[in-house]
Formats: sequence, structure tokens, C-alpha cells
Amino acid sequence: MHSAEHILNQTMDRMFQCGRCFNAHIEKKKSKCDYHFERGLTQSELDEIQIRVNQIIANDLPVSEEYVSHAEALDKFNTEKLPQNAGSTIRIVHIGDYDACPCIGNHVKSTGDIGGFRITTAGFDNDVLRIRFKLTPPEGR
Ligand SMILES: [Zn+2]
Repeated sequence: MHSAEHILNQTMDRMFQCGRCFNAHIEKKKSKCDYHFERGLTQSELDEIQIRVNQIIANDLPVSEEYVSHAEALDKFNTEKLPQNAGSTIRIVHIGDYDACPCIGNHVKSTGDIGGFRITTAGFDNDVLRIRFKLTPPEGR
């Protein structure tokens, strides 16, 4: 789930330059991400997001971690969601060369382990775009 959130964030930012979600609620079976946005998305845009995320999953990119100094993290990555007391060494989670962001959560070893990504609903209210999604387990893993 966590890894899927990273891919979704990167995809959203590439398509709409909206930045990563400012709020996320990640659970085992379903999750939601909130973005600062100006409008709701059309069905074809939602389809496009879903296709792109599933493409990254299908590419089975390796997920790796790297530790950098706090200063380097501030310099290179979006550290908005980093807690104040994050310490002097920051863990950066890389998804192939598609995405890199600081995170302390648990992740899959490669994106093929994520399975299928499906957007269940998307809503827009008060300049906030909320995307809810589910994952289906990969076949044979
Ligand atoms: Zn994460």
C-alpha cells in the first residue's frame, strides 16, 4: 500500500504538477490520498492515472532505500511531511528511477509485489481532491 501511494503521488505530480498528497490515510485494504487541487478530475484523467500506476507496477521496478543527511534530504527531496524530530539521518525510499521520497513506512521489494491498482472513487471539495484506491494481490505471489 505504502509503495502504491508513492507511485500515485509521483504520477499525480507528473500529470498535474500538484505536488504529493498533503494527507494520506493508508490501510491494508483501501487507502485515500488528498491533494491540493483546483478542480475535480474527469473519468478519462482518472483512467489515465490508473493506467500509468499499473504500468509502473507491471515494470516490476526495484524498491530500495538510501540514508542521507538531513541537509541533503532538505536539498533534494520533498520533505514537507517529514516530522520535525526526524533526526540527522533520513531514509529515502526509491522506486526504480521513477520516484524517491523520504519515508519511514514499510514497502514492497519490487513494484510487481503490489498487484493491481484500482481507483474506487475520486471527489473534489473545497480545493481538495481526494482519491480512494484499492489493491488486488498479484497473481502467483
Ligand atoms: Zn512510504
